[in-house]
Amino acid sequence: MDCIFCKIVDGSIPSRKVREDESLLAFFDVEPKAPIHILVIPKKHVASLAEAKADDEALLGRLLIAAAEIAREQQLGKGFRVVISTGAEGGQTVDHLHLHLLGGRQMHWPPG
Ligand code: AMP
Ligand code: ZN
Repeated sequence: MDCIFCKIVDGSIPSRKVREDESLLAFFDVEPKAPIHILVIPKKHVASLAEAKADDEALLGRLLIAAAEIAREQQLGKGFRVVISTGAEGGQTVDHLHLHLLGGRQMHWPPG
């Protein structure tokens, strides 16, 4: 499958890894939109949040807990934002589910 995040999981595309376990991987975004910008992805290919099934409940929970733990490790005690862009109109450009963990600056609302 021609998926850049699956290639990051299998190591054929390099990444700056922050965390890895049996079910997920976290790495720095190559085009950061905040001083800290990390992507948290499942190792399993799930195309988007819209494709998530009831079977993925534990996996989705692990992704969020990992984001919270990484935020603590990255000293984001003042706050951070987690974004899951979903589908074309949601601004998703890579069709492998990923959480953006953004922090280190003031976030604004509404997002673009
Ligand atoms: P989205 O636009 O929400 O689908 O997010 C995709 C994100 O993946 C963007 O923020 C990109 O900068 C990021 N990205 C694309 N290719 C890579 C890569 N090889 N390593 C790290 N981040 C990447
Ligand atoms: Zn994939």
